[in-house]
Amino acid sequence: MARIVVLGIFVADATYRAQRLPRMGETVLGDAFSLGPGGKGSNQAVAAARAGGDVAMLTRLGRDPFADMALDVWAQAGVAFAGTRHDIPTGSAFIFVDSASGDNAIIVAPGVAATIEPSDLDGWADEIAKAAVFVTQLEQPQRAAQRGLEIARNAGVRTILNPAPGADLPDAMLALADIVTPNETEAEALTGIAVTGIDSAERAARRLIERGAGAVIVTLGANGALCHADGTTTHIVALSAGPVVETTGAGDAFNGGLATALSEGLPLDRAVRFANATAALSVTQAGAAASMPPRARIDALLA
Ligand code: ADP
Repeated sequence: MARIVVLGIFVADATYRAQRLPRMGETVLGDAFSLGPGGKGSNQAVAAARAGGDVAMLTRLGRDPFADMALDVWAQAGVAFAGTRHDIPTGSAFIFVDSASGDNAIIVAPGVAATIEPSDLDGWADEIAKAAVFVTQLEQPQRAAQRGLEIARNAGVRTILNPAPGADLPDAMLALADIVTPNETEAEALTGIAVTGIDSAERAARRLIERGAGAVIVTLGANGALCHADGTTTHIVALSAGPVVETTGAGDAFNGGLATALSEGLPLDRAVRFANATAALSVTQAGAAASMPPRARIDALLA
């Protein structure tokens, strides 16, 4: 049984680059194509395992080549798959990138992951109850995330809710989270407070605590993170681990690192520093899952 259980989704990201995006009905020749693993839950599970955590992934997968990709990525990272397989396509995202401007247009089809039900979580309750830390996001149906949080809470398992993609949530759901980890956009979606820096992040964090969250960590991109817990606010400045190459997946690296540190019994302030280091290293590499740093590099950055 794993110390960290991640409920989330996997999608295969198919990225096409062209000098400009096609208009409706038009075909353009592209300059590049790549296919790789994505999905916030999957990225967070990979990040936590690469950071040294003992991780199980709960999700629904299909029985197709994209599911094989998920299983390969998890096997390489040391993530155990503890979910189920179904005759429904695995999720995928088609990402069109305008090479000139960097702008993109995306269609995400969560596929089988959109069919995750609260009853799936009941089936996975033993796995959740034996963990130290439960992590989820909002890419699978919200009622399934809520059921996972309830099961974890009832079993005394530490709960991390990464409220991404951004949406407002019922107070009852926030109250099931020991730690809520929005980025600035997500903090605004939750509170209506425009989060543009440390002061507004602190106001948003206080609002979320009033609504029931146990502790709040607002990630602030290149400004690091703001942690509000037990009535105390701490700003953790971002670390520099080299030139920034790609920030996709930085939030996932942060959440994965946080889960690993907490599963090892670190107090919250030190766990946030570990998460901050994990994310700082991830932005120096291309890709999302591919950019998650190994433990030795995190320890070296923190030393
Ligand atoms: P998201 O990827 O969800 O938008 P953020 O942009 O807030 O999340 O980034 C998450 C974390 O990644 C930050 O709290 C910080 O630790 C780290 N990070 C992001 N950008 C940088 C950067 N340019 N340099 C160092 N660390 C960064």
